[in-house]
Amino acid sequence: MRPATVHEPARDVPVLAAPDVLVVGAGPAGIAAACAAARAGAATLLVESQGCLGGTLTTVSLGGLCGIHAVLDEQRLLRVIGGLSIELEDRLRHVDAIHPPRRHGRIVGVPYDSVRLKGVLDEMTQSHGVQVLLHTQAVAVSTEGRRVTAVLVENKGGRGALLPRVIVDCSGDGDVAARAGAAFDLGRDGELQFGSTMFRLGHVDGVRAGQLTRAEIRDCLQRAVADGYALPRTATGVHLNPIEGVAHLNVTKLGRPDGSAFNLLDAAELSAAEQEGRRQVRLYETVFRKYVPGFEKARVIDIGARVGVRETRLIHGDAVLTLAQVQACAKPADRIACSSWPLENHGRGRDTSWEFLPDGQWYGVPWGCLVVKGFDNLLVAGRNLSAEHAAQASVRVAGPCMALGEAAGMGAAASLAHGDDARAVPLPALQRSLEQHGAILAPTAG
Ligand SMILES: Cc1cc2nc3c(=O)[nH]c(=O)nc-3n(C[C@H](O)[C@H](O)[C@H](O)COP(=O)(O)OP(=O)(O)OC[C@H]3O[C@@H](n4cnc5c(N)ncnc54)[C@H](O)[C@@H]3O)c2cc1C
Repeated sequence: MRPATVHEPARDVPVLAAPDVLVVGAGPAGIAAACAAARAGAATLLVESQGCLGGTLTTVSLGGLCGIHAVLDEQRLLRVIGGLSIELEDRLRHVDAIHPPRRHGRIVGVPYDSVRLKGVLDEMTQSHGVQVLLHTQAVAVSTEGRRVTAVLVENKGGRGALLPRVIVDCSGDGDVAARAGAAFDLGRDGELQFGSTMFRLGHVDGVRAGQLTRAEIRDCLQRAVADGYALPRTATGVHLNPIEGVAHLNVTKLGRPDGSAFNLLDAAELSAAEQEGRRQVRLYETVFRKYVPGFEKARVIDIGARVGVRETRLIHGDAVLTLAQVQACAKPADRIACSSWPLENHGRGRDTSWEFLPDGQWYGVPWGCLVVKGFDNLLVAGRNLSAEHAAQASVRVAGPCMALGEAAGMGAAASLAHGDDARAVPLPALQRSLEQHGAILAPTAG
């Protein structure tokens, strides 16, 4: 009979590095965390399981960098994310890989070229002195009391240990924190946000496609549904890419046959989601060609290298970002980042629910949302921060994730002078330092 478990013998593994700050995961949060920590003088190692930097920005690919601006009125925008996001935008501009912010009603995104972004991120991390280890996955941790003492990684070379003084978990899934034993939530009452496979269509008539409103696109897709096409989602916008004739689509929706979202921490479900995503891409290609003006000759030119994951573990921190705080546009004195992005919830059904903050409004994220409960030298940043399921739906987009990462990286570096203890970091000094580097903690119309 097949045994249910096997015993894995304990073994010694080589120590690969002993950085001051270890950042795990190189999405927008991890990039910003690593650059900020290295900029502050910490010897910083960034470990990423994929072969390029960028996380969702590159391996999934997005329509635009969202959450950087709030809407002030019909014409004007208010910048709410600064700091390293500005550096990234400048670097993208330098290689003609970014467009000015584009509005879809009250939704604002900054279109970027996800292919050029890969090289831009290599240069940006190098320029800040970040050491990068790609194709390497954090798989386990050692702890002593309230400290994480080692992070074990695996790559083609085998298994090795990293001995950082402070760790910033930007894995999106809170892998390090969870393996250290930190408490976390996985959705609320079994509800998780749905994942999506992203894709790009070439041969798009950008002029006609660019004039379509979200309501018009929805009408086109609803007609397809009425004609018998089983589309899981009809709410979407068209994101024209800096590359001419290319549109980026965020329209698939990956759910189980019973209508619930996949648990994208489970490899079997993840595999099913990847395959279902590619099936849906083919379906939407057919439908867009047939029903949506400007897409008559469109053809899929690119599918994200991996499924896009909106929500998995939300790690418990000293503070929790709540739905009530987001809705009230709370501005706590201990904030280290701001966000104005709406509550964008990809739940069940063909719709996406959007709850907007009042024009020009924003809320602050407390430092405690990054400090993992029960640990001194472990921080989280990005979509796996400490937040309620409903609040994460607002703070999880690229702009705020960069701001959270920058704060976590600077805080991690600052903690080196305070016994590697994140709670000992003097918060006013951290806030001043963030602002001196261009981070925005109190957005104002200029
Ligand atoms: C389908 C979809 C569409 C979206 N559209 C937009 C949009 O248009 N605009 C926008 O601004 N935001 C969008 N978002 C949201 C946004 O992209 C993400 O929430 C944001 O990228 C999260 O950033 P992050 O750094 O926290 O995590 P991620 O971008 O998820 O990066 C995490 C990184 O960690 C790595 N990693 C994970 N585990 C390990 C491990 N154990 N060891 C080593 N490395 C590890 C991963 O490979 C990845 O590179 C979208 C999200 C999805 C899923």
